[in-house]
Amino acid sequence: MTAAVSSLSEVPVVPGRECGSWTLCCKVYNVVELGKSAGKWCSYCKPGRGCTIHDKLPNECAAFNCLWKTMPTMSMQWKPDQSKMVLTLHPETNNIQVVVDPGLPSAWTRQPYHGQLRSLSKNNMPKGHLVVVFVNELATLILPDEDVQLGVLTPEQIVSVTQEAGPDGGVYEVKIFNRRATADGQTLEVVSSSRHPVRSAA
Ligand code: SF4
Ligand code: SF4
Repeated sequence: MTAAVSSLSEVPVVPGRECGSWTLCCKVYNVVELGKSAGKWCSYCKPGRGCTIHDKLPNECAAFNCLWKTMPTMSMQWKPDQSKMVLTLHPETNNIQVVVDPGLPSAWTRQPYHGQLRSLSKNNMPKGHLVVVFVNELATLILPDEDVQLGVLTPEQIVSVTQEAGPDGGVYEVKIFNRRATADGQTLEVVSSSRHPVRSAA
């Protein structure tokens, strides 16, 4: 899977937000129950019809709604069949995860999407929530004023950003951690870190 996905079935759907027949989530995510890998259309998804097994949906599918369906502030431009991106919240961190259709890997760089991803970053970083874009397993962290290539990011890895104050606006320190299970719980091991000058107020 390109990104850990939370079950959003208990979050109410915004009235009028219907999936339609172009069901991008059926392409970009894996489905464990079906042995379906991420990035390829599910064999049960038919062009112009969408899912053909509504009566016996895998639990993972039945539980899933993307953020466009549940977040009223997301405009119609973000409907996945237009944006070519599916947004969800990470189940543990509440980071905003943007999974891009691998058939249009540059979708997130287009406007108005890129500018709005930067705004999401600016608004959510102070609350501790990051914006991470995935094209297959390759991840990019969206900072308010810079995009940071993270490379391959597995669902088990954790990204953190801390901001150090400084005379010219300060620096973002970006770290990736591996989680390692121990007898007492788990420890975090730093895999990589990088520093990025703050170019605008976050
Ligand atoms: S990506 Fe969102 S709108 Fe599209 S089919 Fe999946 S849940 Fe519905
Ligand atoms: S089973 Fe249906 S809802 Fe689930 S991925 Fe396949 S086509 Fe989509």
